[in-house]
Amino acid sequence: MKCRSARKMMSALIDGELRPAEKESLTRHIQDCGDCRKLHHEMLAVHDLFTAAGQHKAPQGFSKKVMAELRTERKSYSETFA
Ligand SMILES: [Zn+2]
Repeated sequence: MKCRSARKMMSALIDGELRPAEKESLTRHIQDCGDCRKLHHEMLAVHDLFTAAGQHKAPQGFSKKVMAELRTERKSYSETFA
């Protein structure tokens, strides 16, 4: 899997929208690729902010928004989403 496809699928992974086979190949890429592992970690951290804030589930499509944020600017996500 290429990083580009991995990053496209990552928000779907966190939102639980991937098929098992897709999930498996993406998970394997994340384990092998340091850059994607770091990105995945950052996205999970933002996801945790929502659960810590007492929401059972993050708003739908929120991680796609996070991806856009990660692409454009790197500011404090806790300030952006809290
Ligand atoms: Zn990668």
